[in-house]
Amino acid sequence: MFKTATKCVQSGYKAKNGEANVLPIYQSTTFVYDTPEEMGELFDLKKEGFFYSRLGNPTVDGLEKKITDLDGGVGAMGCSSGMSATTLTALTLCRAGDNIVSFSTVYGGTYNLFAVTLPKFGIDCHFVNPNDSEAIIESKIDDKTRFVFCETIANPAINVVDFEKISKICKKNKILLIVDNTLATPVICKPLSLGANILIYSSTKYLDGHACALGGIIVDGGNFDYRDNPRYPDFNEVDESYHGMVYAKDCGKAAFIVKARAQSMRDIGAMMSPLNAFLTNMGIETLHLRMKQHSDNALKVAKMLKENSAVEWVKYGGLESDINNPLVNKYFTNKMAGGMLSFGIKGGREAASKFQRALKLLHIVTHVADARSCVLHPASSTHRQLSDSDLIACGISDNLLRLSIGIEDASDILEDVKNALEASQK
Ligand code: PLP
Repeated sequence: MFKTATKCVQSGYKAKNGEANVLPIYQSTTFVYDTPEEMGELFDLKKEGFFYSRLGNPTVDGLEKKITDLDGGVGAMGCSSGMSATTLTALTLCRAGDNIVSFSTVYGGTYNLFAVTLPKFGIDCHFVNPNDSEAIIESKIDDKTRFVFCETIANPAINVVDFEKISKICKKNKILLIVDNTLATPVICKPLSLGANILIYSSTKYLDGHACALGGIIVDGGNFDYRDNPRYPDFNEVDESYHGMVYAKDCGKAAFIVKARAQSMRDIGAMMSPLNAFLTNMGIETLHLRMKQHSDNALKVAKMLKENSAVEWVKYGGLESDINNPLVNKYFTNKMAGGMLSFGIKGGREAASKFQRALKLLHIVTHVADARSCVLHPASSTHRQLSDSDLIACGISDNLLRLSIGIEDASDILEDVKNALEASQK
């Protein structure tokens, strides 16, 4: 069994004698067979292989196998974005009339999907605060609830999930726990070993790591028994649209990921492109090195901010004084806390604006989690439509700045941030 760093570099694709040593880009929509019988067996899932890139492609497959191995799952599916990965997951598990329980701190796009879009199709969401008691969270689960959803490290709240608390509730109620592991990555955290059943990635972030390939990945832990569980009728009834398959019975541990591909990807068609899979796979080859550098650099920046007179507060799980530090120590590899942090600047919106204008190295972008350090002021960008009172309800103060610390030399980042803080107070 190889270690994480080795898997980052080598898992997923193995060249045979005389073949390309690097995962090749299969830029082809279709794959050719000698006989119609062979093609028929592929459709019946009796034979493994590729026939049409909406349902599977060798380059995407190499990436899927790598992430499956890194996370310890039974299968994965590459998608066109993180949002399509979450949407396909929800549609694989829910029908109209069902519901979801989600942490309210999830990424804004996911919040919108759960709060606005899915309810239009009869799938409702009950939001809970991560700090709610077990009893309160459990009270939101009813017999129509199909999964509980949270993020390992929430974007932008940066809080860390208490896996023990949430997985206990899910196990007791025989309900799936789905975790968006985007900001931790398998290098920092392996949620399938902490009670999660399905993982979601926006591979657009750290997995690609260079801000050049949009993508999403769903990983099936294969550690949930759907058989005869009344919450999952679609897994226990015959799928007439797919050769009379009964996923829970016919697909063993891979029931979820087979259904996600054979049904949801077939019908929705939000597959990752071969080029993006190639770039993401190459990004992961250095993920273990990058996550260490992101974490080391972010800790240095967080420590500096804590001592700076222009700063009101700092939120970073890697700081010993941070409320999330015990969870970082409990769940994260080598206490790495990733590259994301937030802080409150003295002087509100005006100081936040001056700070951003004065930065020379950090970029003002809505993206996070790539090699370049960057900054975002949510109150004047992603959340600008909200009133000051709405912002407070979302836990976003008007002086909050979110930093995504990259892998440049730490001393350069520190100097840039320090100079900009000074300029913000003039
Ligand atoms: N999940 C998290 C934690 C994110 O931060 C994002 C995007 O920022 C997404 C999901 C959505 O991913 P994408 O932008 O690839 O659709």
